[in-house]
Amino acid sequence: MDKEILANLDNPDELFKILDKCVKTPIYEDENEHTDTLTYELSEYDRNKRIRNHIHRGIYKLIDTNTPKSINYAITILKQLENKEEDYSLNSLKVRAYSMTKETLEDAVEITETLPNTNKRLYMPLLSAYIKWFPEKAFAFLYQIHDLFVLSYEDIKVFIFDIDRTTRNKKFKTIPEQLFDIISKYEIELEKPIMKKLSFQLQNEDQCSKCMNKLNRIVLTRQEIYDIKSSFYTTYFNTKPRQNAVRSFENFCGKRDFNVFVDGNNLLYYADGHDKQVKFTGYLRLQNAYKQLKSMGLKPLITLHERHGAKNMSYLKKQFPKRYKIILNILKKLDMYYTPKSNNDDWFFIWGGIITSNAYIMSNDKFRDHIFSVSEDKFKKYFKQLIIEYEVVSPKDRRTIVIKMPAKVTRCAQKIKNFWHIPIASEQNDQWICVNTA
Ligand SMILES: [Zn+2]
Repeated sequence: MDKEILANLDNPDELFKILDKCVKTPIYEDENEHTDTLTYELSEYDRNKRIRNHIHRGIYKLIDTNTPKSINYAITILKQLENKEEDYSLNSLKVRAYSMTKETLEDAVEITETLPNTNKRLYMPLLSAYIKWFPEKAFAFLYQIHDLFVLSYEDIKVFIFDIDRTTRNKKFKTIPEQLFDIISKYEIELEKPIMKKLSFQLQNEDQCSKCMNKLNRIVLTRQEIYDIKSSFYTTYFNTKPRQNAVRSFENFCGKRDFNVFVDGNNLLYYADGHDKQVKFTGYLRLQNAYKQLKSMGLKPLITLHERHGAKNMSYLKKQFPKRYKIILNILKKLDMYYTPKSNNDDWFFIWGGIITSNAYIMSNDKFRDHIFSVSEDKFKKYFKQLIIEYEVVSPKDRRTIVIKMPAKVTRCAQKIKNFWHIPIASEQNDQWICVNTA
């Protein structure tokens, strides 16, 4: 019989007849009763499994043919198949077939609700079916399932245009607040075309030209920021010396209001070749960075390993016999924090950037790649917004740097007062929509 099924996979009419026969032979019931009609070398269990697989393949073929007739065949057969073992593949097949007609859609939803596996491929055809036949229930269904798996722009795009319709005319009964929840949760960027009426471009880099509110640079909940802090804390401050060092550092910062934490070691070495030799221009670069940040209205703190600093006179004298006094003079005028010998340099300035709200970290080091290899994407995205990068002006002038600030506004859904702001993916990266949900 399975050979027959295989031979007729492309012929729905014939297939139906074979499957129909198949179904009427109760292969799902007592295994031993019907062995006399079938002569197989396979064991009972394997044989039944094999036949089931063929039936399933046959039904898939019917569904793929996608004519009203083939789908009705598929549904007719499926309705006759009992599912005593709660076989997942049969259930998902039923969901798939039942979601293809208006009359059986509710059956499909019902089965889906009993399944342990929240597979997106199962649910999305249901959503499409609602959109097609019961548009007024479509958004409610989307909201009901939105926690089960990650949603993308493609999944929600039909509802976007509903926002622009008046409440009475909303085809899918989309509730803007709930839709924006979803967009925000999965960090979805909208795509063009979009309603002109709602879209705007940032003015002065961070202001909405519709509602005039300023958008934010970092949009994380307090809980998320707390999680990032604790994760960093448990990963890096796991020894007594480090815990003592972090306490001293926090005490030092607590008395001032620094808002840029500069990776001094990175600046000192950067762009002076890979010989790992600190050069005099390195100190001039520290000075230049400090002055530029100050002139931008920021309050920088440079962290530097103590072996390179004012506390290590013997080193400075030895390395820079003619210039060590100049170096001391430079360092004296900067806000410096010298990190102790036994500690890894990296974490001081990073920690400063994390514990200070609305602060920046300045470094060209790709520390994100190794230090945060254990962290989630969300953390990485967060750190990206903190980091100021720089370049030297030219190979000839390595003491002067060009500062590259991170974007003033974080590209993600942002609710400010009653206005939701959602970024639109585009080349210029500066288009958004603004929707009043009051
Ligand atoms: Zn706005």
